[in-house]
Amino acid sequence: MEKLSNPKKTIEVIQKYKFDFQKKFGQNFLIDEHVLDKIILAAGITKEDFVLEIGPGIGTLTQYLAEAARQVTAVEIDRNLIPILQETLAGYPNVSVLNQDILKTDIEALAAQYNQGRPMKVVANLPYYITTPILMGLLEGRAPISSITVMVQKEVAVRMQAGPGTKDYGALSLAVQYYARPRLAASVPPNCFLPRPAVGSAVIHLELYPEPPVRVKDEKLMFALIRASFNQRRKTLVNSLNNAQNLAFDKEEISRALGDLGLSEKIRGEALTLEEFAALSEALGKIREERSR
Ligand code: SAM
Repeated sequence: MEKLSNPKKTIEVIQKYKFDFQKKFGQNFLIDEHVLDKIILAAGITKEDFVLEIGPGIGTLTQYLAEAARQVTAVEIDRNLIPILQETLAGYPNVSVLNQDILKTDIEALAAQYNQGRPMKVVANLPYYITTPILMGLLEGRAPISSITVMVQKEVAVRMQAGPGTKDYGALSLAVQYYARPRLAASVPPNCFLPRPAVGSAVIHLELYPEPPVRVKDEKLMFALIRASFNQRRKTLVNSLNNAQNLAFDKEEISRALGDLGLSEKIRGEALTLEEFAALSEALGKIREERSR
């Protein structure tokens, strides 16, 4: 079958099935073969790999993945796409399609079923309305995943790889960088999709760490500190952490912890590295322990 990356073929399939694009599912299908090649290259797919694709749409990227990988499972929420996928992927016996919500998918079970429990590669042109929940679910879920290569909104890609002191640096940057090393692989303009999205897009490759680059006793506390710091990013860290209802540290305790780390009590959260947030959470964790003795 002629590849769907040819826009004429995509339009033919959509017309044949009278497919209605669903905005609520973030449906923007890829119609540019160069972008598809770049995604496969960035993901580093080989014939050894088991790949999980999120949201195959009509199967455009899936066809490329099936040719490059050993085995592909594609999880699609929209049941109207299932009969289309049956036709467009008929020539690829190494693909299985699941009609379900990725947020409810047991990824560990897929690794066990298709990859002897070993780490898989995740590849997707993500539905933008749930980019963050999908990515954080994959990262925090600790399922066997070695890398994630995804199309996201350009500004989200920039935020994921931003460092301290920049305007794009925030809770998402730190959450992603705790689990993975991000690399921007390509910028993709709206005319590479059908229909065209209102925003620019980018492919980002996340190489997951076997172990996080910093060690903390209480991950929950560290992420609560990060969220509180960026909720009020124009305030000093002492004030924004003191204002956070769920943290219950007073100003003196926060200043003391900052002093122990050699940081100024005037510092803002946006200036702290991941290592410094980790050290701060260790220091505040200790203060909390001492207080409860
Ligand atoms: N991979 C196709 C491509 O590149 O042409 C389609 C990408 S489109 C941006 C996103 C796809 O994700 C759509 O097919 C949409 O129906 C699907 N989707 C949206 N929400 C989903 C969810 N919660 N679980 C699984 N698939 C979802």
